[in-house]
Amino acid sequence: MLARVKDVCKRNGLLILSVLSVIVGCLLGFFLRTRRLSQQEISYFQFPGELLMRMLKMLILPLVVSRNMFPANLVEATFKQYRTKSIPIIKSNKAASESTTRRIIIYGVQDENGSNVQNFALDITPPPEVMFKSEPGTSDGMNVLGIVIFSATMGIMLGRMGNSGVPLVSFCQCLNESVMKIVAVSVWYFPFGIVFLIAGKILEMDDPTAIGKKLGFYAITVVCGLVVHGLFILPMMYFFITKKNPIVFIRGILQALLIALATSSSSATLPITFKCLLENNHVDRRIARFVLPVGATINMDGTALYEAVAAIFIAQVNNYELDFGQIITISITATAASIGAAGIPQAGLVTMVIVLTSVGLPTDDITLIIAVDWALDRFRTMINVLGDALAAGIMAHVCRKEFTKDGDEVRTRQNDS
Ligand code: ASP
Repeated sequence: MLARVKDVCKRNGLLILSVLSVIVGCLLGFFLRTRRLSQQEISYFQFPGELLMRMLKMLILPLVVSRNMFPANLVEATFKQYRTKSIPIIKSNKAASESTTRRIIIYGVQDENGSNVQNFALDITPPPEVMFKSEPGTSDGMNVLGIVIFSATMGIMLGRMGNSGVPLVSFCQCLNESVMKIVAVSVWYFPFGIVFLIAGKILEMDDPTAIGKKLGFYAITVVCGLVVHGLFILPMMYFFITKKNPIVFIRGILQALLIALATSSSSATLPITFKCLLENNHVDRRIARFVLPVGATINMDGTALYEAVAAIFIAQVNNYELDFGQIITISITATAASIGAAGIPQAGLVTMVIVLTSVGLPTDDITLIIAVDWALDRFRTMINVLGDALAAGIMAHVCRKEFTKDGDEVRTRQNDS
């Protein structure tokens, strides 16, 4: 029994520490509110949390460039290889927006009279000086959306260049792996930073209980969005393309979905997803072997959905008015950020900084959603895994003739020899 508890603690150490840090942060924050600390004392107290936010922001640029350039290149190469047969299931972001008082200025290109569409177009094709320009009203002086679009376009072109593009692709792959290694090390600082981030936020707030209520609505919105996406949109796409019963397919991968729920990691779930697809759903091994790893790297429907809702929630809490262009920006960067998220627990929280930065929302407000993130992460990971599995099912259906023909050819050749 003791050995089992030890084993569980060892395997889920980070998760347990994260949950504990949220609880400790809340308790500490509410306790210190009764002490009436001075502004100076509060700012000292917030310092470890600020350090955590700095660490996250430091990773944005290499993460955005490498994680968007590399998968874009991968997809382009794949499209070429499979003659456009593999269609990663693209996310649909459900989000609600209301509330109004302050306008956000995007990267200093939005003026009061300019149309949103014009500003949006300017925003995605920024000159270099605007890409990294620090403007009042912008967050961190970085045009994340412009960088995302530029890196993805470059990745696609590299994919078309064939062998001559390989050095830059390897560079991006290497950059990506090294950034992920930095993330893997820095996550151990997260629980410590989270205690001070949460406590610091509670000390700063006028009415923390009101925020708690809003947080409950936010969590319900994310879960409802995930349910709609997972139970209706994805199965319907599967049904319309394959004309097969999605319930039977989903029943076959139930074990993988439960593992995703338990581990919060689509990468850790990969072997089980593979096994379920092969043994229960009889998906061609070659397709599963190709689609699942690509899907686990770039196809994160659940994460994209959650990041968009979270950004809108943070805007509402701050009474920011989001216009149509900004909601589109959030949808695009949430999708790009989900591509950038690794298939590990709470990776979406790290890439969330990208979405907030893209519309100039305060990145420190990630603190607000940390308290419920460990739970939401489990649900969104399930949807990420479901999206990958259904994509493999669709791909298997679309390519069935080609693969049967290939199989026959292989068999004939084997018989001949
Ligand atoms: N935990 C998610 C996954 O592994 C990623 C995230 O959204 O944090 O798919």
